[in-house]
Amino acid sequence: MSDLTTDALTAGYIAHEDEHLAHNYHPLPVVVARAEGSWVTDVEGRRYLDLLSAYSAVNFGHLHPAITAALTEQLSRVALTSRAFHNDQLGAFAAALAELCGKDLVLPMNTGAEAVETGIKVARAWAYRVKGVPAGAAEIIVAHDNFHGRTTTIVGFSTDESARDGFGPFTPGFVGVPYGDAAAIDAAIGENTAAVLIEPIQGEAGVILPPEGYLRAVREICTRRGVLFIADEIQSGLGRVGTTFACDREDVVPDVYLLGKALGGGILPVSAVVADRDVLGVIRPGEHGSTFGGNPLAAAVGLRVVEMLASGEFQQRALALGEHLRARLDDLIGHGVVAVRSAGLWAGIDIDPVVGTGREIAERLLARGVLVKDTHGQTIRIAPPLVVRATELDWAIEQLKVVLAG
Ligand SMILES: *Cc1c(COP(=O)(O)O)cnc(C)c1O
Repeated sequence: MSDLTTDALTAGYIAHEDEHLAHNYHPLPVVVARAEGSWVTDVEGRRYLDLLSAYSAVNFGHLHPAITAALTEQLSRVALTSRAFHNDQLGAFAAALAELCGKDLVLPMNTGAEAVETGIKVARAWAYRVKGVPAGAAEIIVAHDNFHGRTTTIVGFSTDESARDGFGPFTPGFVGVPYGDAAAIDAAIGENTAAVLIEPIQGEAGVILPPEGYLRAVREICTRRGVLFIADEIQSGLGRVGTTFACDREDVVPDVYLLGKALGGGILPVSAVVADRDVLGVIRPGEHGSTFGGNPLAAAVGLRVVEMLASGEFQQRALALGEHLRARLDDLIGHGVVAVRSAGLWAGIDIDPVVGTGREIAERLLARGVLVKDTHGQTIRIAPPLVVRATELDWAIEQLKVVLAG
């Protein structure tokens, strides 16, 4: 990487950032200045294929013309009203998103973590007001190795020490069980259990797919035991895995969808909790809110995103290109790759330690014009924009081959 970081503009920018920016990230040494579709351009004028898509927030590619059109059109009228007043965009967004999810109601927020926090509040209020759990006793079952965001409540039920250490005391009321083990969920449910909160596929953990039948079993258990099934589809949802939601892979409908990332079209933070009236209807005026949540700009962008998903075109691309990608990744097993996990256009690739760490592979790919992100030491995660071309994926795999060969 020394050749890259000695580029004057890049090095100067990074040094400038280091002076005043809190060090809560360790970015790869590339300074992005522009982007379009599946490609970004750095300050030196070099182009890179973006195989991270801002952790699936850029599912439709950078600055998709249909999304930027919705944004600029709305930006010429009104951007922010607060929910103290109605705005003429939010109703259409809520209606379209509810229909996409097959649910009654939408509660709009901004970031993914806020959607998760909102889901937790809704589940607890539902437990007290509908299920009859004694005040203050509600429990939510979560999975080990989960990633649901970075607030103090959320990191409190993480099993990742680097997410938790130094940030306690934490919110009580969470019970952890191994991911992929439905029987463990059944065993952990008690009379005060409000909900089971899981990712249908664990993204941050390295694109971990649960065993076949797990989501169906969780659905059956939650129904039988009278607890809510909350699916965090913030990263797995909205086309990424070849279906609208990862739960669709097992024809499962959770009680509550948590959505974010791609809901903002890769432009704005837009998140939402989506559920039926008997669940989301427990929230009363004044109990929950957000200054920016449901703002007209976000609603116009979110509506366009939902309209784009309605045709199924992006889901189809993710499915077809995902198969294409998977076949090529499987060819690398035994050649610097130990294992591949994937769903649609989303893959976790475990790198043989002999050829380097995940970070080293990501750095070498960067030098060859491909952007990826490592996770948990030996894994690299790829989530190309769903607009990527098969030939571009092939080219990226060629770069990976070269990099793995040393
Ligand atoms: C990214 C993510 C979140 C948190 O979203 P932010 O917008 O970063 O707060 C929550 N859950 C999952 C599964 C995610 O991938």
